Amino acid sequence: MKHLAIVPGDGIGKEVIDVGLKVLDAVSEVSSFDYDGELFDIGSDRYLSTGELLTQEDIDSLRKKDAIYFGAIGDPRVKPGILEQGVLLKMRAVFDQYINLRPVTSWFPFVPLKREVPFDIHFLRENTEDFYMGAGGTFNGSKKDAHVKVKREMYELEMELRTKSSNNDDFAFEIGLLSRKGITRFAEYAFNYAKAKGHKKVTLVDKANVCTHIYGMQREIFEAKAKEHGMGLDYMFVDAMAMAMIVRPETFGTVAVPNLFGDILTDLGSQLQGGLGMGGSGNINPKGVSMFEPIHGSAPDIAGQKKANPVAAILAGEMMLKNIGYPKEGEMLRKAVRYCLDNQLTTADLGGKLNTDAVGEAVCKFILGQKK
Ligand code: ATP
Repeated sequence: MKHLAIVPGDGIGKEVIDVGLKVLDAVSEVSSFDYDGELFDIGSDRYLSTGELLTQEDIDSLRKKDAIYFGAIGDPRVKPGILEQGVLLKMRAVFDQYINLRPVTSWFPFVPLKREVPFDIHFLRENTEDFYMGAGGTFNGSKKDAHVKVKREMYELEMELRTKSSNNDDFAFEIGLLSRKGITRFAEYAFNYAKAKGHKKVTLVDKANVCTHIYGMQREIFEAKAKEHGMGLDYMFVDAMAMAMIVRPETFGTVAVPNLFGDILTDLGSQLQGGLGMGGSGNINPKGVSMFEPIHGSAPDIAGQKKANPVAAILAGEMMLKNIGYPKEGEMLRKAVRYCLDNQLTTADLGGKLNTDAVGEAVCKFILGQKK
């Protein structure tokens, strides 16, 4: 019996997670997978009535779960950033979910490329370091000192910046930081992941010709790890990678990418595979609690209308099942999605006529039909 935390969140998050749970129920009827789900009321409604974002009580309860199934967060009534930072980013940080897994699969016929070549890119984005550390500040002629403080599971870091400029202008800075320990565990995960997928190499994306310090150290550590694992290692500069994803996406397997570039490339990837409604994402701590979510947000413009495409949430469910030890069951979800796409059983964003629940019902029907 697996214990899941269910966090539907806001907007269409609620609608797609509702479908995702029905799909998990269907899987549990036809396989040995069994679960109990505890519902967590985390999101804008609670924030607006109590002022609470992610509480210590939430954290303590979530920590006891095998995985977190997350919908989306965001609400037009709340200033942008509050919910995202107070819930989503905090969750990733508290549980040290240092890998963001975002597969990019050619879900034909929704791939917008001219060539019909199948591809399956497994993006592993480092989730805790790089230019997204929140390590920045400002200084000018009169305020010459800047203090940067970073707290991570692996370390706490303080930096003092004493500045002297030739004019009295305002300056702002954002530090991109990588640690040896952080890169090492990222590389270890990447090579193990590639091996498990039957890939012979890892492609490391960076901009080591410009940001020589951080990405130079990253290359050194990935090279050592490649040797240790007896695996291949390729490098791609991020600008070249953006082009290659359009021109030859079929040539990539496991791709390791630092935080900032990963954010951008995986959004490009989500459009390549057919849009926001098609992408699942995993925030993974291999030794802790991982969280699985659709890559789209709460989409307030279509919330409450049953227009949301539930496929991304279902594919997040697939990743969750595979991650908690049910690979065959995860594959059922993937096959069911493929069946729906092949038979035009889709929501309007994919040109279909069904609403959110009806797509869910079609997926469940397909899965239940697998019963021996
Ligand atoms: P966030 O910043 O939280 O990611 P956002 O508004 O920038 O939020 P989304 O909420 O993901 O981005 O939605 C962007 C647009 O894409 C929405 O306005 C919606 O029309 C569409 N969209 C997103 N997800 C889906 C989905 N599952 N099904 C159909 N349309 C979707």
